[in-house]
Amino acid sequence: MNELQRPHVVVVGGGPAGLAAAETLAARSCKVTVVDRMPSLGRKFLMAGRSGLNLTNNESLSDSDNGGFLRRYGNAASWLGSSVRAFPPEKLVNWAGELGQPCYSGGGGRVFPKAMKASPLLRAWLQRLGAAGVSVQSGSRWIGWSEDGALLFEHRDAVASMTPDATILALGGASWSRLGSDARWVGALVERGVDMTPFRPANCGFVAAWSDTFRERFAGTPLKRIAVSFEGVALRGEAVVTARGIEGGVIYALSATLRDAIDRGGSTILHLDLRPDLDEAALARRLASVRPRESLSNRLRKAAQLPPVAAALLREVGEPPKDPVSLARLLKAVPVSLTATDSLDRAISVAGGVAASACDERFMLTAIPGVFVCGEMLDWEAPTGGYLLQACFSTGRAAGEGAARWLETRGLLREQDSGLYPHPS
Ligand SMILES: Cc1cc2nc3c(=O)[nH]c(=O)nc-3n(C[C@H](O)[C@H](O)[C@H](O)COP(=O)(O)OP(=O)(O)OC[C@H]3O[C@@H](n4cnc5c(N)ncnc54)[C@H](O)[C@@H]3O)c2cc1C
Repeated sequence: MNELQRPHVVVVGGGPAGLAAAETLAARSCKVTVVDRMPSLGRKFLMAGRSGLNLTNNESLSDSDNGGFLRRYGNAASWLGSSVRAFPPEKLVNWAGELGQPCYSGGGGRVFPKAMKASPLLRAWLQRLGAAGVSVQSGSRWIGWSEDGALLFEHRDAVASMTPDATILALGGASWSRLGSDARWVGALVERGVDMTPFRPANCGFVAAWSDTFRERFAGTPLKRIAVSFEGVALRGEAVVTARGIEGGVIYALSATLRDAIDRGGSTILHLDLRPDLDEAALARRLASVRPRESLSNRLRKAAQLPPVAAALLREVGEPPKDPVSLARLLKAVPVSLTATDSLDRAISVAGGVAASACDERFMLTAIPGVFVCGEMLDWEAPTGGYLLQACFSTGRAAGEGAARWLETRGLLREQDSGLYPHPS
């Protein structure tokens, strides 16, 4: 195929989903241009690597007593399942290894590159994409379509257009907008009749009505080795007090159910166990061994090695009891009233986006043939643990493969069996 015969595909959004689509299409001999509104690509991916890039999870794909990988996507599992099966965690790990980033499994099946960071992986990936002929146009914001169907971009105060043979939209979610994904594209899709589910925060923090004294003194303080319980689910981990409320790993893990409960009732109560490794009776015995005349903070420190934030948390819910049994009971279940999710922009990821009903099985928008969607802009959510990036890589590759198949059916690309979709008969 010479240069003129190669179909041109524009991928809008250079995060992991868009780049995965670009890689798939370049491998199918398409001419690929990745356009991004930011000055450089993969900014959220780089941010994800700041605290250890949890690339995927080695949990088995199929359902199991523990849940199984695909069940982490809830109702969206049936939608995303074929893409994750086609490009499962082991393929993602091999792919990272090919780019010089071998991975290892940490606790809870979480898989990380040994380097922990995203930067060496992204650098090697962009180099390989460049070598495969993928071109990048950064600093261009996609703003919609012209009347004759051309893609419109704002670039340095001017509007430019492109008319590719197929388009991949990989625009990300609606959080951490300073990294690129600001969801300002929603109107352009709604105008073309694409079903959208409103964005909501996922893996997010919550608002708690802290007193001014507590907020000023303890915002930013970690709550280490605690357990939280909600609606019969108890999880151990860490949280952090914020000026607005509470956030952190163990809170994110419960955030979907907490968010839904707040949506239903306006507020909800989360219980914190500040010494999950001691049962109530053992804790009461320890508290009884410290002189009651000691300050609450001293009693908690001497009897249970708890930091000052523990006593302050108890005071947030009322006058703490003095007798050891009641005090132990409270320490094992401090009620924290949550009144709202923290802002959408602060959430690690989002729920909502392009609805499953808007797409066919190739991730093509049924309202706009030739336009494919992937990554976090789709309406799914998952907990942290590597499930977010895995779905972005898998749906990105599936959308790329879907676009290649669509180009084949239009005679623009030679047929090649990817094994992902049945060939049209
Ligand atoms: C702090 C943090 C830590 C995280 N850690 C992890 C982790 O360890 N493991 C994990 O699985 N997930 C993690 N995530 C989530 C993960 O990074 C995202 O789910 C993933 O990056 C989404 O990929 P995407 O390609 O769909 O979108 P994005 O990475 O958001 O990329 C979308 C791209 O589209 C561009 N764009 C948007 N609108 C336009 C427009 N109109 N025109 C042109 N370009 C546009 C943006 O500039 C951006 O580059 C983390 C997220 C955060 C915020």
